[in-house]
Amino acid sequence: MRTPWDACERQTLSWFRDLVRLDTTSPPGNERIAAEYLAGVYAANGIETVSLEAAPDRTNLIARIRGSRSSEAPLMLASHTDVVPAEPQHWTRDPFGAEIAEGYVWGRGAIDMKSKCAMDLAIAVALVRAGIIPNRDLIVAATADEESGSRFGAQFLVERHPDLVRAGFVLNEVGGFTMYMGGRRFYPIQVAEKGFVTVRLTVSAAPGHGSIPRPVTAITRLAELITRIANAQMRIRITRPVSQTFAALGLSRETAPPLFRPMLSNTATPTIVSAGYKDNVIPGEASVVIDGRTLPGEDVASFIAELRTIVGPEPALEVIKSAPPAESSTDTPLYRLIAENIAAADPGAAAIPWMLPGATDSKFFARLGAVCYGFSPVKLGPMTPFGSLYHGNDERLPIDGFYWGLRLYAEVVLNFLGLEFDSVFE
Ligand SMILES: [Zn+2]
Repeated sequence: MRTPWDACERQTLSWFRDLVRLDTTSPPGNERIAAEYLAGVYAANGIETVSLEAAPDRTNLIARIRGSRSSEAPLMLASHTDVVPAEPQHWTRDPFGAEIAEGYVWGRGAIDMKSKCAMDLAIAVALVRAGIIPNRDLIVAATADEESGSRFGAQFLVERHPDLVRAGFVLNEVGGFTMYMGGRRFYPIQVAEKGFVTVRLTVSAAPGHGSIPRPVTAITRLAELITRIANAQMRIRITRPVSQTFAALGLSRETAPPLFRPMLSNTATPTIVSAGYKDNVIPGEASVVIDGRTLPGEDVASFIAELRTIVGPEPALEVIKSAPPAESSTDTPLYRLIAENIAAADPGAAAIPWMLPGATDSKFFARLGAVCYGFSPVKLGPMTPFGSLYHGNDERLPIDGFYWGLRLYAEVVLNFLGLEFDSVFE
């Protein structure tokens, strides 16, 4: 049975708002409530799911719709169900109210990324309802713990249950939103993301009494170290994805706006400082956590080697966590399909390849050989740039832009599964 398109829009909006109302702030996460909600909808539509937990209440949910040709690599639609914390005192509306006002749905997770989670659900349900077999398996994954590094989510799934999430292609977050630049509209598609290397640097000096000052202590040495890191420019290197973006936008290293700066080098940002335990004691040790981000082609060793050129050989260095960068080719049928459909859905606009300075679940799914793209389409107006909404106060999503994105997403996914839009929707 085909699903009327306007009914699909209304239903998807309703699922999306229900998901926003489920408080899955991480920490602690509690993604179980979202997984159970989704499992209920899938079950009501005759779709089996698998729930997997790496820790109590950190539930991941996987659904799979079998395709006709097992030779074709599966397509996976991925979303994470956890959200970053919201400080209600800085919000105009309840971050977990999913209120509709001024044409928007307001709430934490509106753009990152319960809207896409609902879109993934909508397509799977409509496909099964239509009773049509796609040409390849369709996997839908709703993961836990993305916002804190994916250890209980995508990383756990990839390392412990690879057969459930091994796909040829993944459509995940951070891409497909309207970007305004130089009077034109673009839709960045994430094709690469930086890796991360989080390290703790510790310096020591003789401890002493706070009543007897001295110029060199662990704290003054750490302050000097942090200043040096903040002022250092790490080696600039134009990677393939960035050169593709520059080519599409007519930019160069010299003319690129500041937005591109983190994409041109490894970066090292001091984020947590620890020293001292009593007001009249000069501590013997002080440390800083560095949020290191690595370009495609780099690894932990190359990052540490570069960091050492800035901080010198002396500070003790401990790697707290790391994950490699990921990069996918744009020379695929799926990328071309995305670009064609964007051009048709927003005449005059163009898809451009994009590298994310941050990290998503894609870096883990890519380990199993998947081509991963950030494609979570939504049409945004010039007054609500993506950057202001993503993890921001008053996170919200325009309803008309959500419907526009749902339609574009359905076209791309169904076409890639060898199906016509009109065979599933009416
Ligand atoms: Zn996200």
